[in-house]
Amino acid sequence: MAIIGIDLGTTNSLAAVWRNHRVELIPNAAGEYMTPSAVSVEDDGTILVGQAAKERLVSHPDRSAAGFKRDMGTGRRFRLGEHEFSPEELSSFVLRSLREDAERYLGEAVTEAVVSVPAYFAEGQRAATKRAAALAGLRVERLLNEPSAAAVAGERVGEDEQKLILVFDFGGGTLDVSLVEMFENVVSVVAVSGDVHLGGRDFDAAIARAFCQDCGLEWNRLTPRQRGNLLHQAEVCKVALSSREPVLMSVMDGEISASLILTSEWLLRKCGGLFRRMTAPVRKVFLDAGMPPSELDDLILVGGSSRMPTVRSYISRFLKKEPVRKYPPDTAIALGVGICAGMKEYAKDLRDLILTDICPFTLGVDVINQSEPGRLLMSPIIERNSVLPTSRMGVYSTTRDNQDKVEIRIYQGENRYCADNTYLGKMELSVPPAPAGEQSIRIRFTYDVNGLFEAEAVNDVGESTRLLLRNGDMTEEEVRARLLELEKLKLHPREQAVNREITARGERLYAVTVGRARYQVGQMLDWFQAQMATQDPLKIASARRTAARFFDEVEAYLQNGWPDGEEPEDDV
Ligand code: AMP
Repeated sequence: MAIIGIDLGTTNSLAAVWRNHRVELIPNAAGEYMTPSAVSVEDDGTILVGQAAKERLVSHPDRSAAGFKRDMGTGRRFRLGEHEFSPEELSSFVLRSLREDAERYLGEAVTEAVVSVPAYFAEGQRAATKRAAALAGLRVERLLNEPSAAAVAGERVGEDEQKLILVFDFGGGTLDVSLVEMFENVVSVVAVSGDVHLGGRDFDAAIARAFCQDCGLEWNRLTPRQRGNLLHQAEVCKVALSSREPVLMSVMDGEISASLILTSEWLLRKCGGLFRRMTAPVRKVFLDAGMPPSELDDLILVGGSSRMPTVRSYISRFLKKEPVRKYPPDTAIALGVGICAGMKEYAKDLRDLILTDICPFTLGVDVINQSEPGRLLMSPIIERNSVLPTSRMGVYSTTRDNQDKVEIRIYQGENRYCADNTYLGKMELSVPPAPAGEQSIRIRFTYDVNGLFEAEAVNDVGESTRLLLRNGDMTEEEVRARLLELEKLKLHPREQAVNREITARGERLYAVTVGRARYQVGQMLDWFQAQMATQDPLKIASARRTAARFFDEVEAYLQNGWPDGEEPEDDV
């Protein structure tokens, strides 16, 4: 039984598998790698998926749907003829079709998959994706962030090498921008941002409307069928413009008969607002990551809309960086997710690649708002964009004299007031009576890549309480095994042996050096402590290496003196 990787896209979906030491894309029944994520229902109730369904979006718009990935995890219903479907049911039809193609291609049953999702997908959307897979007969243990998948598809970095990669994923309906860090064999998403209402379809709409404007037609007066036809023509011309120019756009439909010559310059002029909107999420990821764009090593453009030369040049001019050419815009994510499917099967050649994930939202507890007592404030414990798995602690104190218990309510979201965030659950803990503020409560949140969340509160006398939230499809046994692994994380980084070793080494060197060298060792120790305080494993690992290198130099100095001309000055 094979495990496949699936890139479940807004516009197109692809499947890949790891075989014979390499990743392979899986063709569908028509021999194509890309299957349009479209579903249509025929009069006799037959469900069509892929290209046939995409064609029917124009001819039978009332019986067809596309773009439903945008609505995953919402209560929205899609009416297709006399049937009604949820977004996950529609997605399950696409997944089933990919699964059947894979079974035919591989000649064996496929019951498990690794599926990629946008990094910003919240828990509900991730759970909906898993439900869709289950409906399609696929077990999904692991959802992979799309930008991580795209980065994995490229070449690995060498030992001790580090790379900062911006993945600009511009698809049919959404723009996802992510900063990914690759350090030796660790791939992690550092920050994500995006625009869920910006994609190739917006260009189609802008082109169609601009066409009407330039040809003296009134968009609002067109019939739904004429609009569909115009949008279709706009997309065809937009795609053609990616390989040649000028392109003649002509529409003949009923009373409409018009044509216009399109060029890249025309496109830039007519869609200027869309181009400008592309840069907002790019700015935001650098801000969130606290890094300047000058630190960027690679720019990876993926998603069908990244094929537009105007998009490529606009974004590369904005970042002053040429995009990496070897990443195929349409297949990079599928190839990456196929590699991860191989990792799941423990293909020997892949075993050493570690993928971390990031938490796309903030998790916190409510605290009293002194200025507006009725509106509880959110106090974050795990911040958005934290590297997962993670375990972080916040310390709180009692607010009333002789308070005998605290009720801890847990929320997810980015808003200042708890009422505007999503409530996840609550726990209660008793506290020994004392004057207000004298008793503390330590609250620890532990969250892993597969959506297992544990909150634990401990009071000053060591009594504790715990709340566990998990993805519905994890068995008791899986939860126990995972919690055992997460126990390791709960140690504060300061207490972990490798970090203690570095600190002890620094303290020893501090004791045996004098003057400037001693000052620098002291500074390095302070900096290392600060890195540990972030509780971010990736940052700490990188800091450990920096500190170790510096201490090696100091040891070498103690033995041989500094290299010529580099002797540190004595303090005066
Ligand atoms: P995706 O969601 O990544 O499959 O991207 C689909 C979007 O990419 C659709 O809006 C397509 O119109 C657009 N697209 C695909 N190929 C091209 C191309 N060669 N030039 C411009 N846009 C394209």
